[in-house]
Amino acid sequence: MATAAALIRKIIHIDMDAFFASVEQRDNPELRGRPVAVGGSRARGVVAAASYEARKFGVHSAMASAIALQKCPHLVFVKPRFEVYSAISRQIRDIFYSYTDLVEPLSLDEAYLDVTENKIGMPSASIIAREIKARIQEETNLTASAGVSYNKFLAKIASDMNKPDGFTLITPDKAEQLVAGLSIGKFHGIGRVTAAKMEAMGITTGADLRARSEQELVQRFGKTGRYYFKIARAQDDREVQPHRIRKSVGSERTFEVDLTEEEDLLERLHYLAREVAQDLARLQTSARTVTLKLKYFDFTLQTRSRTLASYIAGSDALFTVARELLRTPSLPLHPVRLLGISVSNLLHQQDLHTNYQLSFDF
Ligand SMILES: [Mg+2]
Repeated sequence: MATAAALIRKIIHIDMDAFFASVEQRDNPELRGRPVAVGGSRARGVVAAASYEARKFGVHSAMASAIALQKCPHLVFVKPRFEVYSAISRQIRDIFYSYTDLVEPLSLDEAYLDVTENKIGMPSASIIAREIKARIQEETNLTASAGVSYNKFLAKIASDMNKPDGFTLITPDKAEQLVAGLSIGKFHGIGRVTAAKMEAMGITTGADLRARSEQELVQRFGKTGRYYFKIARAQDDREVQPHRIRKSVGSERTFEVDLTEEEDLLERLHYLAREVAQDLARLQTSARTVTLKLKYFDFTLQTRSRTLASYIAGSDALFTVARELLRTPSLPLHPVRLLGISVSNLLHQQDLHTNYQLSFDF
């Protein structure tokens, strides 16, 4: 028994409940019990997060604010406060790190933890997950849902099963049956487009997916088909990746009113450059390629890029390059709906080491 257990990983997926909206309700008692959308209320606004009261009306994140208002006329819009959300995110990550260093954040409010071996020597992942939930509640006054299982795919499905304030354990003996009964739309890793394709092929549940050969799935979906074949059998051997190497860092904004004046564009560019510089500082890296992204009023997209001879990281340097990109070959000729700055060609620790070595050789 001990040897069999040793081969099975113990994975926890923690997901904060309606994160941004819950933070706003926590900090402003007037919002409690009311349908709340975090995001802009004006014509071009988009809902970034919806409270559970708003979800009852069919309001969800990424929905256009105008549509959200149609669905729920008494919806209360609240401006996002990202500094507050990221501070809480750091707080919950510190809780995770007191159990394991194998933490893979998926976003500000979600992470996988591998607790097969853990810092408190606790054999039960369920006990750890419940402890984490309790500590999050205690320290942040917010609720999280936890999923516990033996791989990432199942842990993620589990955390979603009893939201909010949920706890779900999927044991190996229950997993295959559970996956068979799951609708394809609930499969993490199968997006809406793929789900529609699958439905057209007559695949609407895990059992339907399981009935297809690996060959057919690969033929139809490429390499990912192999992953689909596996998850239909409740298998997933992806490891929890504590240090995801980022290939790029960026920030972008959609404006409620299209921008046409250079002055307005530069002001926004300044702000974006500062955000990207902050991210680079946090990641302790710098970058050599700067890309400016422009989306026009008619949704056409344009990117302008420049790779520099040396690495930069500061907000002024980023702004200077972005401004040059904005003006070259000419200032935007159409009203701008979205502006973004991203940087790539990042300098990583190992490269730093190599560079250092090289300069030594020279
Ligand atoms: Mg969440």
